[in-house]
Formats: sequence, structure tokens, C-alpha cells
Amino acid sequence: MTQTCPLCRSDQSQPFESLKAEGRTIEYRLCSRCGMVFQGEDWKKADLDQFYANDYRKLVEGEDQVSDKNRAIEETRARLLVSWLKAQGVQTVRRHMDIGASTGALINRSRREFGAQVLGVELSNSHRAFAETRGLRMLPSLDVLETQSEQRFDLISLIHVLEHLPEPVQTLSHLRERWLTSDGAFLLEVPNLYAHNSYEIAHLHAFSRHTLLETLRLAGYRVDALHVHGQPRSNVLGLYITVLARPATAPANQTVQPEGSVRLKRRLGMTKRRLLERLMPGQAWLPFPTLPNNEEK
Ligand SMILES: [Zn+2]
Repeated sequence: MTQTCPLCRSDQSQPFESLKAEGRTIEYRLCSRCGMVFQGEDWKKADLDQFYANDYRKLVEGEDQVSDKNRAIEETRARLLVSWLKAQGVQTVRRHMDIGASTGALINRSRREFGAQVLGVELSNSHRAFAETRGLRMLPSLDVLETQSEQRFDLISLIHVLEHLPEPVQTLSHLRERWLTSDGAFLLEVPNLYAHNSYEIAHLHAFSRHTLLETLRLAGYRVDALHVHGQPRSNVLGLYITVLARPATAPANQTVQPEGSVRLKRRLGMTKRRLLERLMPGQAWLPFPTLPNNEEK
């Protein structure tokens, strides 16, 4: 089987690292041409859809239903993301679509703070049902979204979602062409290959700052702001990369700029992480956030 790089489409790649999960070994590969790290498994779309509808959340949250621990992280992350957006100058949002919306934490906050009309796309049946109890409008998949006669959105977000999508460049490109307003804001967050373990059965790609920026550039975006941070889990580890992007004004040159020394950067990054964990344990990993007692839905 040939494994094609999701970024530059080269079929030349080498084994990178592997993950043991669910009783099997999942291999991650390093593109020999551009330095992208991606999963070597050959998922079928139907299997992925079925997996996300019923099994994925159970697997990562350890239970079938919405867990308080996961909700507390999502609520905290939503609050931080909205304040980051405001700090970047995003003051008004009329229509916000969140893809991989989970329990609806981010769109709920957007509705409250910007007065935005909101829409969530979430494949997990249990999490979508939870979001609907908050009065949030939800769709079960991107396929269903395509059958809707919706207006465009001036904010689209994918928070810890891009690493799950089989064709990240094509999906981002399509969202820009079909669903984002011409000067709309695009908010993304992914795990950072150089600080976050990054591997999980459903993580098809492991982005670095470089490969994330190239993915966005190829998909026709310009990046307005980029933030490497650990919130809400860490004060010192650069676990996540958050980006605010907008549609580019000129078409992108489709030649991918390669990233070098990926193995070395991964090794150094994870060594730095272990050092910080040892030297600053209280800052490296913060206690899990908790839900407030008098939480407003
Ligand atoms: Zn490549």
C-alpha cells in the first residue's frame, strides 16, 4: 500500500514513531519530501464516520456519556479561546460555526459574548444530544451541512479537529470557498508535535508549527496570529498551537516548503518537556479544571 503525504502528496515516506493502542500498533510516518508526520493506517470514510458517531468519545473519555472532566476542560478552553480572539481584535461575530463542537462549549460562549447565531457540527450522538439540551443548533456531519442552504459564517472554528480529518488541505480549502465570508475569521487549535505526545488512534496527522502553516497556506489562508501555549493544562509546556487565519487575497503557490530536522526537533522538544516536568512540576501540569457549581447552561 502506498501512503500519500496529506500535505505535499509525495508517496515517499519513512517510519517515524508508533503508538500502541487498542491492542495494535499504529505507525506514524515522516514524509521524505516535506517533513509532515502522518498516520500510516488506511481508514475508510465509512469506518471513521461510524467510529466518531458511537465509539470515539467512549474511547478517549472512558465513558459513553458526556464526562464532567471533559466538559470542564472544554468550558475552560472555550473561555480562553474567546478572550484570545478578542485580544486579536475580533470584536464582532454574527455567525459562528464550530466543527467538532462536542458539547457546544465554544459556540455557547460565542452566543453569549458576541451575540452570534451559532451552529455546531458534531459526529458523536451523545455529545450532540447534550449540546441540543442547551438550545444549540447542531448537525451530525459535514456531509449533512452540505445539504443545508445556510448563509456563510464570519467565524469558523476547528478546535482539536484538523488532526482527525483525512484531507486537511482540501477540507480547509472547501470551508473557505463555500462557508467562510470573504474576510471571515478562521480559528484553529491542534496539538504541537514538539511538545504534545500528539498520537492517538484517531489522530491522522501530527502538526508542527511549520506543517500547520503550510497546510493553511496551501488551503488559501493567511495567518493573522499564532500562539503556542499549554492552556488550560500547563503554564509552561507548549502543548497546543492556536491560529487565527483569514482568506488570503492571492492564490497560494502550491509548492510545499519542506521542514528539516523533524526527528531532532521532536527529540529535543520532548526532552525539554521532560526537563520542565521535573524542574517545575506544579507549572508543567495544572490540576484539571472543574465545572462551577452554579453553572449556566
Ligand atoms: Zn509531504
